[in-house]
Amino acid sequence: MSKMQKKSVEDLNAKGRKVLVRCDFNVPIKDGRITNDKRIAAALPTIQKLIDGGARIILCSHLGKPKNGPEDKFSLGVVGERLCELLGKNVIFAKDDTVIGDNAKKAINEMQDGDVILLENTRFRAEETKNGEAFSRELAEICDDYINDAFGSAHRAHCSTAGVTEFVKGETAVGYLMEKEIEFLGNAVENPERPFVAILGGAKVADKLNVITNLLDKCDTLIIGGGMAYTFMKALGGKIGHSLVDEDKVEYCREMKEKAGKLGKALLIPIDNVVARDFPNPIDAPIEIETVHSNEIPDGYMGLDIGEETRELYKKALGTAKTIVWNGPMGVFENPQLAAGTLEIAKTVAECDAVTIIGGGDSVAAVTQLGFADKMSHISTGGGASLEYLEGKTLPGIQVIQDK
Ligand code: AMP
Repeated sequence: MSKMQKKSVEDLNAKGRKVLVRCDFNVPIKDGRITNDKRIAAALPTIQKLIDGGARIILCSHLGKPKNGPEDKFSLGVVGERLCELLGKNVIFAKDDTVIGDNAKKAINEMQDGDVILLENTRFRAEETKNGEAFSRELAEICDDYINDAFGSAHRAHCSTAGVTEFVKGETAVGYLMEKEIEFLGNAVENPERPFVAILGGAKVADKLNVITNLLDKCDTLIIGGGMAYTFMKALGGKIGHSLVDEDKVEYCREMKEKAGKLGKALLIPIDNVVARDFPNPIDAPIEIETVHSNEIPDGYMGLDIGEETRELYKKALGTAKTIVWNGPMGVFENPQLAAGTLEIAKTVAECDAVTIIGGGDSVAAVTQLGFADKMSHISTGGGASLEYLEGKTLPGIQVIQDK
């Protein structure tokens, strides 16, 4: 692993200090109940470290997308309750429609070392997403030091993820979760053990243009699957029926293929495909499928998964890999008849003797749904953030943190 340049929670001497921790508590909630608390659980190591170190911990996060200020259904109250259970410790929920109103200030004033307070949803303040100075200053005023542990929000320059650091008097650092993301994703892209194989899938080329460009530069082999494969196929003159295609990215795909050739890198696209007449509706409905060679998808059919020969080809390419980054499913994995390609690749990646990184979004859902999550070296917690990282962008929520 490369050494992380940013100051970490490990480097803070937080005893008796008020530490504001930006977490990612943006959990799914249905009928007032949390349906998946992974993100809360993921924040615990940093919080526990601060409790053990005798800090006074003030947690903040956004939840959902409240449009016009406070809305009960976006209150962080339920998160506070779950936090109490998971930490086995009282967490004071400082309910305040303005996030830092009298109630929150009073609770903060009365804190003892080791106490934990949770502030209300930062997006109850309209300035939050505009990175407005007034709210950034207010956040900075209630703390001595600041920690960002919200990787899922690190690609956004908001008050609580970035702006606040301009006004914090003491130290700024990243938490354990953020540190892990930086080490795995950053290392894979910047300093991978080779061969480095990147797998990209999912729906559209257009959504992942910069990821393709950046990863082609950095990796040794780039494997393409999912809907985006058909734009590549079309670019190479193939017959793709009515498969998903980004017409205005055909030229881009041709250029990428040419670039791969010049760089002496392998850019693999499917050689056979599982096809059907239509996209399944609903997505998991039974459908009639068959397998055809690439470039020969008949009119009236669309490619919805990689075929068996392609799975073998991709498995071979993954066999010697020492670093694997995967973003995006190989097919419409939500349908059991179209999940085989993604399943086979997930199984192969899980069994590889390599650093294996699943880069957010639907690939995480696929790997989890198919039961391979605990076999991977790292599963990124941030969808958009991990994509931007793989694009080679500097994420504002990381950039603003002090270097060691
Ligand atoms: P993304 O969010 O870009 O990673 O895309 C994930 C979605 O792509 C999943 O919901 C898949 O069902 C879908 N997908 C994968 N392969 C195909 C395909 N061949 N045609 C259409 N959609 C696909």
